[in-house]
Amino acid sequence: MASNSRAFVDTMTTDPPVLLLREHFDTLLEALKRRGFTVVGPTVSEGTIVYDELNRAEDLPVGWTDEQEGGHYRLKRRDDAALFGYVVGPQSWKKYLHPPRTRLVEARRDGNGDMTFADGDEAEPARLAFLGMRSCELHAMTIQDKVFLGSGPADSHYERRRKRIFSIGVSCGVAGGTCFCVSMGTGPEVTDRTPHDLALTEVIEEARHFFILTAGSDEGREVLAELPVTPAAQDDQAAAKERVSHAAATMGRRMEVGGVRELLRENPDHPRWDDVAARCLSCANCTMVCPTCFCTTVEDVTDLTGDHAERWRRWDSCFTMDFTWMHGGGARQSAKSRYRQWLTHKLSTWHDQFGSSGCVGCGRCITWCPVGIDLTREISSFRDDTPQPQPSEP
Ligand code: SF4
Ligand code: SF4
Repeated sequence: MASNSRAFVDTMTTDPPVLLLREHFDTLLEALKRRGFTVVGPTVSEGTIVYDELNRAEDLPVGWTDEQEGGHYRLKRRDDAALFGYVVGPQSWKKYLHPPRTRLVEARRDGNGDMTFADGDEAEPARLAFLGMRSCELHAMTIQDKVFLGSGPADSHYERRRKRIFSIGVSCGVAGGTCFCVSMGTGPEVTDRTPHDLALTEVIEEARHFFILTAGSDEGREVLAELPVTPAAQDDQAAAKERVSHAAATMGRRMEVGGVRELLRENPDHPRWDDVAARCLSCANCTMVCPTCFCTTVEDVTDLTGDHAERWRRWDSCFTMDFTWMHGGGARQSAKSRYRQWLTHKLSTWHDQFGSSGCVGCGRCITWCPVGIDLTREISSFRDDTPQPQPSEP
C-alpha cells in the first residue's frame, strides 16, 4: 500500500469520484503493471472463484455469480457481463500476506562443521496489486495488521509483504447467501474506515457499463491520473450508491452482535455447545477459509546429510488435536471445547486481545463448513435459550 508507516494508515482523499468505462478497464491493469505491480484478483478455477494473477480484465470471472448457503457453493451464469458480480470465494488475501507456508530460517553446515544461519524468507516479495478487495476483506486485513503489526514486535514476514501492496477495493452490488457484513459494520461499501489505494463500484445499465472510482491514497491518485477517466455525474454516482444499498438490503444472513461478548463469556457450559459438537467434524475448514484466523505451527526439516536444515511456519488451527499439545496431551480434547474456543475467540475474547471483533461477516466459514454449521444461527440459538446479558460495544 502506498504508506510505508508501521500502521499503514494512508491519507484519505476527498477527491471527487471519476468514471471509467468498461472498455477502458484494462488501462487500470496496464497502469499498475507499469508501476511494477503484479496484479492479482478473482478468477475462475475448478468451479470456484480464487485469487490468482490477472493479465487483463477478461481474466476476471466475467458474467459469473456465486450461489452460497451453509455447506453449499456453486458458480452460476449471470445474464450480463459484470466483472464483479459475485462475492467472496474460499480464499482470502491472507494467502498472500500470511502465506500457508513460510520458510523462516535456513541453516547450513560447511565442510569445517561451521554453521551459518540465514533468513529463509524472500527479502523482497513481489509488489502485488490486490484488485477486487471487498469491504469485509479490507476490514479483515486491518484486523490482521493488529495481530501481526500491533503492540508487540512486528512479524517481519507479514510486514515486508504488507507494505508492498496496492489495494483496489470493490463495493458490492450483490450480497451472498451467507454474507452478514452489515451486522458486523464491515460492508458492503468500501469507505475511508479502511485504508485502500483505490475504490470502485461497478454499474451496468442498458446502454453503458462503467465504474465509479475514488482514490484513497496519493499513489491511488497517481494511478487514476494515468487512466482515461471523466468526472462522474451525480446520476452516475447515485446509480453506484443504489447498487450498494441493494446489496446491503439483501444480505443472506444477519447477526445480533449487541451483548455477544458477554453471552459467550458467561455461558461456557451452555447445552448449545454439546449440540454443535455433535455436528462439528473438527475438519478445520472454517479456520482455513477465515480471513482473520492466523494460528500457525512451526516445523523443522533436514536433508539426509544433516548439513542443511530449514524451519517452516505453516497454518494450523484450533480445531486440530496437536495445536494445543503439551506434556500429557492436547488442551482441548473434545470437539465441544475446540468449537467453543473458536467461536468465543472470534466474537468475544478477540475484543479483549485486539480491540475489535475477529469476525467481519464474510460468511466463508458457513459456506465451506461441510456440515453447514452457521455461527449466526448458533448465536441466535444461544440467545433463545439464555437470559439476555447487558449489551456492550459491538
Ligand atoms: S468467522 Fe466466518 S464469517 Fe467471520 S470472518 Fe471468519 S470466515 Fe468470515
Ligand atoms: S465448524 Fe464446520 S468447518 Fe469448522 S471444524 Fe466444525 S465441521 Fe469443520
